[in-house]
Amino acid sequence: MSQPHRERTATIIVIGAGQAGLSAGYHLSRNGYLDARTNPDAERTYVVFDANPAPGGAWQHRWESLHMATVNGIFDLPGLAKPAIDPAEPSRTAIPRYFADYEQRMGLAIERPVRVSRVSYADTDPEGDLLVETDAGTWRTRAIINATGTWDNPHQPHYPGQDTFAGRQLHTRDYVSLEEFAGKRVGIVGGGISALQQLEEISRVAEVYWYTRREPEFRGEFRSEIEGRETIAKVTADAEAGNAPRSVVSYTGLGWAPYAIAARDRGVLNRRPMFTAIRPHGVREADGSFTELDVILWATGFRAALDHLQPLHLTNERGGIAVRGTQAAADPRIHLIGFGPSQSTVGANRAGRDAVRTLTRRFDHATDHAPDRTPVPAGRAG
Ligand SMILES: Cc1cc2nc3c(=O)[nH]c(=O)nc-3n(C[C@H](O)[C@H](O)[C@H](O)COP(=O)(O)OP(=O)(O)OC[C@H]3O[C@@H](n4cnc5c(N)ncnc54)[C@H](O)[C@@H]3O)c2cc1C
Repeated sequence: MSQPHRERTATIIVIGAGQAGLSAGYHLSRNGYLDARTNPDAERTYVVFDANPAPGGAWQHRWESLHMATVNGIFDLPGLAKPAIDPAEPSRTAIPRYFADYEQRMGLAIERPVRVSRVSYADTDPEGDLLVETDAGTWRTRAIINATGTWDNPHQPHYPGQDTFAGRQLHTRDYVSLEEFAGKRVGIVGGGISALQQLEEISRVAEVYWYTRREPEFRGEFRSEIEGRETIAKVTADAEAGNAPRSVVSYTGLGWAPYAIAARDRGVLNRRPMFTAIRPHGVREADGSFTELDVILWATGFRAALDHLQPLHLTNERGGIAVRGTQAAADPRIHLIGFGPSQSTVGANRAGRDAVRTLTRRFDHATDHAPDRTPVPAGRAG
């Protein structure tokens, strides 16, 4: 019979090793936190659990045609600039290579593949420990920094008759390359950047039909720093209010990037309102007519992958989690990074740093104010 896993401890557990988790790991290491696996008795320790089998976070799963030239721009990880990368290289190989080098050079305490299935309170003490259950055993910790991204939680809306569709349905997450759509009639659902990129690509080899709930808003190419700051302020206000997260494009609109211009010039930016029902061989359009389709591509985005935090009851009735900076408003032991306003490579970097700073201050304060347990010399008592 196999031995049950021993319960181990770390002062802080980081969940996820994408851009956000690596930033947290870097700042923990720089602030003197030691690898909990090899220094179990040290005063401050950490470990990062990552469900992926290899470095790279979600980048290792992006579709092949998402090249370094077509991504929006990937910020360097803290402390190590990206090497020169051929713009034609797929981001799914270039970024994981950079992350792997980073992890090794920084000597980060990352354990993979380890999936966290459940985080819960060890007891009812609001200052007490948390239990982190993983497929490699249970750990006890004083705080978690959650950096699980969105890739593991694709958003899939439901429409009447969806299960009866005889053609192929797939989500952006499962898109490989345009060749598989050659000669087909493809309905593409979604108004975000991925939808637009995949619409442009697929339209080179297939007949495409583009469906969005709202009329897509295109804005000029120029994005001033002020507009960027205003957008972050709006996303931050929503996150602090505990509103359900929205896509970045719902705040910024779509830009006239080269792929958008190419799609417009090829005459395929013909948005249709959402269909009302799905039938075995196509969809019922909003105007009642019928369009035959072979494929429906759901380019409908992603949501934060937070199922493992459910036992903490952080989510409100609107489906959001209120935060103050990176900290869950309801519990200072829980930090969410790569979440809300930090859902970008630059945001993830800063959030990793901020979460470590906030938690370290909290631990320092607790140490400073801990009751003095030094034995009182005889004769001075009372
Ligand atoms: C198609 C696409 C393109 C994008 N392009 C850009 C861009 O060009 N520039 C930009 O700034 N941003 C871009 N973004 C946003 C991007 O996702 C973030 O900027 C950033 O890369 C996300 O990093 P992350 O660390 O939050 O998450 P991820 O990279 O998703 O990493 C999360 C990690 O957590 C792990 N994990 C998840 N659940 C668990 C669990 N329960 N237990 C253990 N581990 C777990 C996962 O395995 C993964 O390794 C893009 C997003 C998408 C979807």
